[in-house]
Amino acid sequence: GEAIRAEQLGKTYAEGKLRTPVFDGLDLSVRIGETVAIIGASGAGKSTLLHLLGGLDTPTAGEVYVAGQKMSDLSDAARGQLRNRALGFVYQFHHLLPEFTALENVMLPVLVGGASVDEASQRGTALLEKVGLGHRLGHKPGELSGGERQRAAVARALVNRPACVLGDEPTGNLDDRTAGGVFELMLELNRDQKTSLVLVTHDRRLARQLDRVLELHEGKLREVPLNEV
Ligand code: ADP
Ligand code: ADP
Repeated sequence: GEAIRAEQLGKTYAEGKLRTPVFDGLDLSVRIGETVAIIGASGAGKSTLLHLLGGLDTPTAGEVYVAGQKMSDLSDAARGQLRNRALGFVYQFHHLLPEFTALENVMLPVLVGGASVDEASQRGTALLEKVGLGHRLGHKPGELSGGERQRAAVARALVNRPACVLGDEPTGNLDDRTAGGVFELMLELNRDQKTSLVLVTHDRRLARQLDRVLELHEGKLREVPLNEV
């Protein structure tokens, strides 16, 4: 089956009289468990594409399907629920809530999904242990290192066992070694949970460890053979 699919996707930002499409007629299909890197120059539209796939922004043409559900058919509330259940997000900056502990941050998506505090706590603790933060459950983001914060953000993205994780430069703010570790962790969770990964990255060494590399260029997605990445 498919984790996520874009059909004839188009996006044009309206900015006064100037209307240049970022892309138009873009197709993408990501199978369950598949890992895909999106590369491309700055301004090519990579973030725009991720926002559309994640339902954070609305396409001006085409459709996005998440776990088989057509996003445009859903109410805002239903789309929010689908995002919380079926998608995880990881950004360059962790976006953890500063007033909450690592465990509370990871529990939140589980609670939003309707589970009890006990269950959220159990699942959050188990996953934080898995990402090597078992000794940091009660720490707030400001008390964690950059790599630890990013691992907590990865745990938050994966705690609901989503069909797909969307990452916008998820290791872009980390030194090479820490970035490699966080990347490895995402691949491990991909193997364990069958969660698909769609990662925008500038780092070609990391990109070529994924199943497919797609380059966004002049509004088109082109598959780059892994030995050319
Ligand atoms: P990338 O992530 O590949 O750097 P973006 O998706 O951020 O590219 O941007 C693609 C193009 O869309 C750029 O020309 C950018 O200026 C434009 N753009 C992005 N977001 C907006 C916005 N909110 N309003 C208007 N134009 C935007
Ligand atoms: P930027 O200008 O780099 O996009 P922002 O701080 O505005 O920085 O947003 C950072 C990221 O968080 C963006 O990719 C944005 O789309 C995303 N974001 C904003 N609101 C939400 C939300 N409600 N849920 C998930 N991600 C969000």
